[in-house]
Amino acid sequence: MNVERRKFDALIIGAGGGGLRAALQLARADAQVAVVSKVFPTRSHTVAAQGGVNAALANVLPDNWHWHMFDTVKGSDYLGDQDAIEYMCRAAPKAVYELEHAGVPFSRLENGRIYQRAFGGQSQDFGGEQAARTCAAADRTGHAILHTLYQQNIRARTHFFDEYFAIDLIRDREGYVLGALVMSIESGECLLIEAKATLIATGGAGQLFRTCTNALINTGDGIAMAMRAGVPAQDMEFFQFHPTGIAGKGMLITEGARGEGGYLINREGERFMERYAPHARDLASRDVVARAIATEVREGRGCGPEGDHVLLKVDHLGEEVVAKRLPGIRELALTFLHIDPAKEPIPVYPTAHYTMGGIPTNRFGQVVAPVRHGPEEPVPGLYAAGECACVSVHGANRLGGNSLLDIIVFGRAAARHIVGFLQENRYHRPLERESVERALEHRARWDRKGKGEPVAEIRRELRKVMEEHCGVFRDQQVLSEGLDKVKALAERLQEAVISDHSRIFNTARVEAMETENLMDLALATVTSALARTESRGAHSRIDFPERDDENWMKHTLCFADGRLDYKPVRTRPLTVDPFPPKPRVY
Ligand SMILES: Cc1cc2nc3c(=O)[nH]c(=O)nc-3n(C[C@H](O)[C@H](O)[C@H](O)COP(=O)(O)OP(=O)(O)OC[C@H]3O[C@@H](n4cnc5c(N)ncnc54)[C@H](O)[C@@H]3O)c2cc1C
Repeated sequence: MNVERRKFDALIIGAGGGGLRAALQLARADAQVAVVSKVFPTRSHTVAAQGGVNAALANVLPDNWHWHMFDTVKGSDYLGDQDAIEYMCRAAPKAVYELEHAGVPFSRLENGRIYQRAFGGQSQDFGGEQAARTCAAADRTGHAILHTLYQQNIRARTHFFDEYFAIDLIRDREGYVLGALVMSIESGECLLIEAKATLIATGGAGQLFRTCTNALINTGDGIAMAMRAGVPAQDMEFFQFHPTGIAGKGMLITEGARGEGGYLINREGERFMERYAPHARDLASRDVVARAIATEVREGRGCGPEGDHVLLKVDHLGEEVVAKRLPGIRELALTFLHIDPAKEPIPVYPTAHYTMGGIPTNRFGQVVAPVRHGPEEPVPGLYAAGECACVSVHGANRLGGNSLLDIIVFGRAAARHIVGFLQENRYHRPLERESVERALEHRARWDRKGKGEPVAEIRRELRKVMEEHCGVFRDQQVLSEGLDKVKALAERLQEAVISDHSRIFNTARVEAMETENLMDLALATVTSALARTESRGAHSRIDFPERDDENWMKHTLCFADGRLDYKPVRTRPLTVDPFPPKPRVY
């Protein structure tokens, strides 16, 4: 076992908002923290978040956390765990003020308070009038948050391993997680980072789909790593398609554009959302708007020569509002479409956006998994937070602005729990040779030479299959075909190689390992989607159009070998009465 080793109290895999919020908490508690990121930290996907972060501050309209909780439970189509949702909504104002005090330059109201905009699925008074709950820094909120957190971490002396790729977790025979094997992307050298506690914060897996809003790096590595370490992936059938991606390209046009007064029209110029959601219209929940757009196009009311998209109008808002509140959107539309949204409507179509499923955790960020087919228990030394985790606060459908909140609240909560764990576990546990060797073998797979098809081709096909067979609308036949195709691709990947030429910079090696991770997640996603014979939130089965609370108020767990298990939704909040399932109308 000839690998360089480093020891830290805590290892954080991922330097997005979730990882950096946790790192800051730990570094300030005087823990030795290592943060590993495959890209420079401020290039993490959090940087791209546009619209904002939800907290019931009541700066613009009346609000309170309990209304926020109601909206989140309803938005989740009752699949969210209500204890975790209560915790998050109560913690939201504090989490946002902490960001403000750390230096996040939020947009301001005339009176100096934080600006808050309207977003989809938000209401006052348990389903009443539209609320204004989303705190924004123009349409670059994630950028502001990520840069602030990074700077504060530098100040707190967090140790960064930039451009290191985490390959696999190290888990011993007793089930403890003892760190991870990582690789310097520049040199290809492996490094073993030993830690008393490991937090996975590797973000989502939008790269599963051909058209998506996610960065190239969002390949769900952490979820796949956890699966290889014996932890199932939870609720993978729930993948959010954002209603307004730039048509044919996928880049995101924030819901904030509709929050500021923008609306959707079809080829007849009709504001069609009035038919699908008479009350909330363009600000209905994302799954509702995405299905409405897909239906308009399918029924022949799409725009453009191919009739394959609808239009988002913001030009009636005036140059000044567009320049002040939506400058990034204007830039995106100018760059990718040569359209100025202050003058012309933007062609949009649903695009893969957010991974609701992920690594099962409790509200303390501890990863929980069934032990030997028995009830679930925390995996000692392993935590997860952010988009890779499934707490589950988003259930079957996430509300806009709740993800930046999720990463901040649960990044912090996980770190606080780790501080306690470190007090009880003062020493590093001895490392077993075989658990490290398993990880080394995993990496060595891509050293093999010979002829075989290129990995990049398989990745391209995988993303196409997922888009065609596991998109906005699904049914038994389309999903079964999809599963067969993914399995065939998985077999081809076993034989694939990376060329000597691309080996030089290790990027091909990274791409190969990412593709393996995507493959595992694709299998879990299609398998879980095929099994769930109901429609709930983002999972719409044409053959089972109704929600079935009697049989399906439960979370899916999919193991690495494709085996499925289920666990009940936690319907009991911490202090208030539960919100029982109701028909979901907007
Ligand atoms: C375009 C866009 C706009 C959005 N807008 C909003 C919004 O307005 N409001 C909102 O609430 N949410 C929004 N979201 C969602 C939200 O931004 C994300 O869910 C959230 O930022 C994810 O944060 P994270 O810390 O979990 O992961 P990320 O920010 O994705 O960071 C993941 C980190 O993990 C690292 N990593 C991954 N794999 C490995 C590996 N194998 N080895 C080493 N490092 C690894 C990466 O380098 C990166 O540092 C948006 C998302 C997108 C894509």
